[in-house]
Amino acid sequence: NQTIECRKLTKAFKGDGVETFALKNIDVTLEEGDFISIIGPSGSGKSTLLSIIGTLDEPTSGELLHEQQPVHKLNSRQLADFRFENIGFIFQQFHLIPTLTAAENIMAPLFGRKVSYDKKQRALDLLQMVGLQDKANSLPSQLSGGQQQRVAIARALVHEPKWLLADEPTGNLDSETGEVIFQLLQTLNKEKGCGVLFVTHDPALAERANRKIEMRDGEIVSDTQVSQYA
Ligand code: ADP
Ligand code: ADP
Repeated sequence: NQTIECRKLTKAFKGDGVETFALKNIDVTLEEGDFISIIGPSGSGKSTLLSIIGTLDEPTSGELLHEQQPVHKLNSRQLADFRFENIGFIFQQFHLIPTLTAAENIMAPLFGRKVSYDKKQRALDLLQMVGLQDKANSLPSQLSGGQQQRVAIARALVHEPKWLLADEPTGNLDSETGEVIFQLLQTLNKEKGCGVLFVTHDPALAERANRKIEMRDGEIVSDTQVSQYA
C-alpha cells in the first residue's frame, strides 16, 4: 500500500538569530487513495509540510516514511529515484519551462531515463487526457493559465506517481478554470487511484476532499473525514 507516515516532524528556520518553527511535532498518516485538503492561515506550515512529504525539503527532526520505509536512509541518488516513482508536484505558478513546448515540458521529467514506453506518445496521450491534444507544439506563453496548469498536471503524471502533491493548484486561476482543474484532480484520484494532497485557502474547496487537515502555527489542529466526497 502507498501510505505516507509523518512521525514527529519538526522544521525550524533560523533568521536573525531567531528560530521559527514552521512545523511542530507533526504526526499524520496519509492512506492509499486519500484525497486530502490542507487548509490554514498563511504561514501555518502548509507548504513546508508538502515539501517535506514530497522530499523537496528535509525536516529538522522527526521521520518521514513512505510505505514503511524511512526516507532519510536513502542517498541523494536513491532519493531521486524514489521521487520519480512516487511523487508528482504541481504549483500555483505552474513552473513550466518557457522555452519548451507543452509536449516537451511533459516529457522533461523523463529526460535521461530509460522507460518501456514511447515518451512522445505518452506526452500526447496525457495531453489528450487533460483536453489539450491540439496544443502539443504550443509554448507556455501561448497558453492560458488554466491550459498551463493542465500541462503541469500532465507533466506531474508522466511517470505515473503514486501521489500528486499540489500547492494551491487553483490559486492563480479564475473560479471557472479552477473548477476544471479541481475536477481533473478528482478524476485522477477516483479513476487512477492516485493519492492527492492539495493545499488551499478556499474553505469550500477544502470541504470537497475526502479528508480535511487544518493547520495553525505549525500544528495540525483538526483532521476530519469529509462526508460530502462521493
Ligand atoms: P504556509 O504554506 O501555510 O503559508 P509555510 O510553510 O510557507 O506556510 O511557512 C511556515 C513558516 O515557516 C512561516 O513562518 C514562514 O515564514 C517560515 N518559512 C517557510 N520557509 C522558510 C524559509 N525558507 N526560510 C525561513 N522561514 C521560512
Ligand atoms: P541534495 O540536492 O543536496 O542532494 P537531496 O534533496 O537530494 O539533497 O537530499 C539529501 C539528503 O537529504 C538525502 O540523502 C536524504 O536522506 C535527505 N532527505 C531529503 N528529504 C528528506 C525528507 N523529506 N525526509 C528525510 N530525509 C530527507
